[in-house]
Amino acid sequence: MEAKELLKKLVEIPSISGNEAQISQFVFDHLQENGLSPKQYKDNVYCSIGKGKQILLLNSHLDTVPVCPGWNQDPFKPKEANGKICGLGANDTKGSMTAMINAFKKLADSKDLKGKVFFAASTQEETNNIGIKQLTEKIPKVDAAVIGEPTELNICTAMRGLAILKFVAKGKSGHASRPSQGVNAIYKAIEDIKKLRSLEFEKAHKLLGKPTITTTLISGGTKNNVIPGECEFTTDVRTTPIYPNKKMIDLIKETATSEVQVLSDRLCPKETSESEKIVLAAQKACPEGKLLGFPAMCDWVFIDAPGIIFGPGITTQSHTPNEFIEIKQVEKAGEIYQKIVHEFFK
Ligand SMILES: [Zn+2]
Repeated sequence: MEAKELLKKLVEIPSISGNEAQISQFVFDHLQENGLSPKQYKDNVYCSIGKGKQILLLNSHLDTVPVCPGWNQDPFKPKEANGKICGLGANDTKGSMTAMINAFKKLADSKDLKGKVFFAASTQEETNNIGIKQLTEKIPKVDAAVIGEPTELNICTAMRGLAILKFVAKGKSGHASRPSQGVNAIYKAIEDIKKLRSLEFEKAHKLLGKPTITTTLISGGTKNNVIPGECEFTTDVRTTPIYPNKKMIDLIKETATSEVQVLSDRLCPKETSESEKIVLAAQKACPEGKLLGFPAMCDWVFIDAPGIIFGPGITTQSHTPNEFIEIKQVEKAGEIYQKIVHEFFK
C-alpha cells in the first residue's frame, strides 16, 4: 500500500489515547496481510524480522490527543490538498507510523538485513506511556532505538525531562482587618515563586538549552476578609541532562520555604552521544538532517537504549486543529528509516 493510502486509513480510525483497540487490530492485520508475524499485547502491536546479535527498535505511537476546538473539517476524514494530508494525528504521529510500517515491510523483504529489527506500535503515549512500558516486558533489550515523531527529518538526539512539583505555603489565618495578627500564606507563596523565577542556571545544554521552572497553577484563601492560612501552587520543571530531575528537585527544595511535594519525577531527560552508532547511522542515511533537541516528550523516556527521534512532520503542528503532514516527507521518512537500519547493522 502506498504511503498516502496507508496514512489516510490510519487517520480514519479514531485512536484517542486509551482507545486504541481498533487501530491496533488494523496495524496487526495489515502486517499479517503482508506476510509478517505480528503480536498484540494489550493494544500494543509488535513484530520482529531478521536475525543476529544486534537488535534495533523502531517505535511509534498509535494514539492521538482528543479533538481540540477549531477544526474546520471532520478530523477523522483525511483531506488531501497541495501535497498534504490533513486529519487528527496526521502529524503526531500517524505520518511516522506510516513511514515506519512501510519501511519495516520493505526491510522484511530485503535479503541483506544483517540484524534483528523490532517494530513496536505503542498505546497511550499522549497520556501515561503505559504502552511502551508494557512493550519493554515483551521485547528483549535493544541496542538502539529510533522513535518516530515529527522532527522535519532532523535527527533529535536529546530530549528534556519533566518534573511536576506542588508547593504548600503555610501561614496563619486571621481577620483581614488586623493583618499584623496573621501570616499571609499568599505572600509567602509569592516570595517562593519570585525566588524560583530568579534562579539562574550557568550551564546550557548544547541542544536543549537551560532548564525552566514555570508556575502553572495557584490557589489560596477562603474568604475575602480572611487572611489566607494556606496557599498552594504548582510548577512545571523542564530538566536537561546537565540539570536532571533529582538535581533540580533538590535545588528547588533548598530555594523554597514552602513544603514541596513531588507529583511526578519519572520523566527523565535523555541524550545520545554523537558518537553512538545509531546517530552515525542516521547521519549517513540522512546527511541533510540536523542534530537537534526534541522540544516535547515521547516514549523514548522508557526505552533503555541509545536512541534518536526522527520522523516526518513539524512539532508545532502537533496537538493543533487542522494538523497536516506533507506526503513527500512521509515517503522520504520511509526510505530513510530503511537506510538507518542498514547503516546501523553495517
Ligand atoms: Zn507524538
